[in-house]
Amino acid sequence: MKELEYNKKSFFDKFGDDKLASAFEYAKGYMNFLDAAKTEREAVKYTVEEAKKHGFVAYDFGDKLEVGGKYYYNNRGKNIFLFTIGSESLENGFRISAAHIDSPRIDLKPAPLYEDGGMGFFKTHYYGGIRKYQWLTLPLALHGVIVKKDGSVIDVVVGEDDSDPIFYINDLLPHLSYEDDKKPLGSAVPAEKLNILIGSIPASDDENKNIKLNILKLLNEKYEITEEDFLSAEISAVPALKARDIGFDRSLIGAYGHDDRVCAYPALSAIFENTDSKHSLMCVLADKEETGSEGNTGMQADLFTDLISDISATLGANVFKVRANSKCLSADVSAAYDPNFSEVFEKMNSPLLSHGAILTKYTGARGKSSTNDASAEYIAWLRDTMDKDDVLWQTGELGKVDVGGGGTVAKYVAKHNIDTIDLGVPVISMHAPYEVVSKVDVYETYRAFCSFCKN
Ligand code: MN
Ligand code: MN
Repeated sequence: MKELEYNKKSFFDKFGDDKLASAFEYAKGYMNFLDAAKTEREAVKYTVEEAKKHGFVAYDFGDKLEVGGKYYYNNRGKNIFLFTIGSESLENGFRISAAHIDSPRIDLKPAPLYEDGGMGFFKTHYYGGIRKYQWLTLPLALHGVIVKKDGSVIDVVVGEDDSDPIFYINDLLPHLSYEDDKKPLGSAVPAEKLNILIGSIPASDDENKNIKLNILKLLNEKYEITEEDFLSAEISAVPALKARDIGFDRSLIGAYGHDDRVCAYPALSAIFENTDSKHSLMCVLADKEETGSEGNTGMQADLFTDLISDISATLGANVFKVRANSKCLSADVSAAYDPNFSEVFEKMNSPLLSHGAILTKYTGARGKSSTNDASAEYIAWLRDTMDKDDVLWQTGELGKVDVGGGGTVAKYVAKHNIDTIDLGVPVISMHAPYEVVSKVDVYETYRAFCSFCKN
């Protein structure tokens, strides 16, 4: 009678040591990616390099396409589309995996530089949903670009090398926080207090002993920039921390920005390693998900359908049929059940750590507002597909109804008449500067993508 019940299975109940060793091996590549690509721009750079190694070539609108061909479209260095042309008719649709490569962080304001109290600072504007208190007294690195008026692009990465300086956001000492400690957590750290400490030595040749001027001199020596160049810069502070194994058994990975590189990496490796040429595949790595998928590098941009239309036209396929028959895995993380905060989870429907890739029928908030809601038919197809390949998967909903909510790119794909469901990895401390995932869940998500591309 046991088979009548649905029970989530743990990786450790289902598989043995061989599979565990494979999961650990796979995690090494993922951890390299985490350290190499802390921003969307770095993730696109990484992807272009790897895509070329795997035989992908740059594509532009109107280019010739051939069956068996592998292509990538680099959108402004922040968003990238990879696609392959399969042997079957394109009117059977694309198999699309869509993940995002931006993560919550602290961006510099356009005019960031000032000094006060013997310290130089950058003013910031946070990006995405953060609990602000988590970003204080943390080693920070600066990543980004400064674009000069002549169009030259200066890449900035400071704080990652052990010999680099790091940066820092000050916090209040407990001795003087009696009043502050009474504030609700959400309002304890106003956004305008997230100022980044960047120096304290005044310019030696300046009679006003100006710290800001000294920092500008240093920046001018290193990057040949002036203060005005910050206006055309995109610089973010991210944790100056590498991906590390967590636990005596090394089963977990701690890192900045698992959300959503933990889905981007498996989606990428699945399209790189796929040797089955029947289906046409597409992997979208989107920007701006953490701020609503807006703008010309986010998943709401028309570029997604422009590309599908262009590819369809070139191959003589009816684009409406291509879209109608396409299937998408919207690849994003969800919150793993955490016994330390059990009050916000409904355990039966929450993703469990080490229980494999999560299928999330709907996201949103309150009464399922603002969500794609995958059809029962599509889920049934996917269950069957993954079971054939013995992939470990589980259902999962983000916390209890009415305690909060969240969204993904799923609805922005589904609106183009494409069957879409969320699939991803359970994360502990989601959106914290240092998040945690299980190696076996990352591996099973990779295997889920492989199964999706193949079947
Ligand atoms: Mn996400
Ligand atoms: Mn997120």
